[in-house]
Amino acid sequence: MTSPRIDLHTHSTASDGTLTPAELVRAAADAGLDVVAITDHDTTAGWAPAVAALPTGLSLVRGAELSCCWHGVEPALSLHLLAYLFDPESPELVAELARVRIARETRAERMVALLRADGVEVSWPQVLAGAAGGTVGRPHIAAALIRAGLVADTAEAFAPQWLGERYRLPKDDIDVFRAVESVRAAGGVPVFAHPRASRRGPIVPDELIADLAAAGLAGLEADHEDQSPAEQAHARGLAAELGLLVTGSSDFHGTHKTVRLGAFTTAPQAYERILDEAGGVTPVATG
Ligand code: AMP
Ligand code: ZN
Ligand code: FE
Ligand code: FE
Repeated sequence: MTSPRIDLHTHSTASDGTLTPAELVRAAADAGLDVVAITDHDTTAGWAPAVAALPTGLSLVRGAELSCCWHGVEPALSLHLLAYLFDPESPELVAELARVRIARETRAERMVALLRADGVEVSWPQVLAGAAGGTVGRPHIAAALIRAGLVADTAEAFAPQWLGERYRLPKDDIDVFRAVESVRAAGGVPVFAHPRASRRGPIVPDELIADLAAAGLAGLEADHEDQSPAEQAHARGLAAELGLLVTGSSDFHGTHKTVRLGAFTTAPQAYERILDEAGGVTPVATG
């Protein structure tokens, strides 16, 4: 029997992916995956529609990618925490996620205002409509820039002169230590997403990762397209040193990115460890 194919990081239209949760699970099965995690930014809204459409033979790991910040440097660094199999009704997490989603909306509206002040023809109602009720993010503003013919694709929209720097505003994220503790308290398993992805911006020092491990962090995402082979190796080495599990994932976003489902995968042993540590909800499988 061949090893199961496990992809633990994907986005749907519940945040800034372009496939609906139902389309996402069907695409995951078509891509030959055995396990897929739905990890939309700061929301669990995609869980129910993904479960309802789950194809036979595919296991769904319900999760989220939490927008976090670390205040150990000035200005604070933003980072992403994947959270798996947590109780979606945990009052603390529900409140934090709702707060972040509202803050994201305010921030995106202000970014659109900055663009408009410079004469860029994008409209906030259209950006909001493009998010279609999902968590709003820069990819939705990027889509508006593409529609306006100002950039060719999402990657170009993230250049420094656009959303990468010039028009980028900070988000009101969750303190990362609070996030790790809240996820664990809700029975979830926290994994640091793309921790060494220097091409996305400044990265956190290894000392912070050691402190997070002591606070309950379970793992590091090593294999990710935004991390070079050297960065992936560094993450693996650090995980081994700290006793953390290691994941690999596509971070699929539909047509907002070029990466395909299953482009990077997680070893069955690491997945087993996540299951062993989880106590919020279980994976879902039919048939
Ligand atoms: P936000 O959460 O609003 O700050 O937007 C960040 C999101 O945009 C992340 O989920 C990334 O997947 C996506 N993103 C960041 N950089 C790029 C890029 N260069 N090209 C395409 N998508 C990107
Ligand atoms: Zn995203
Ligand atoms: Fe991320
Ligand atoms: Fe992501």
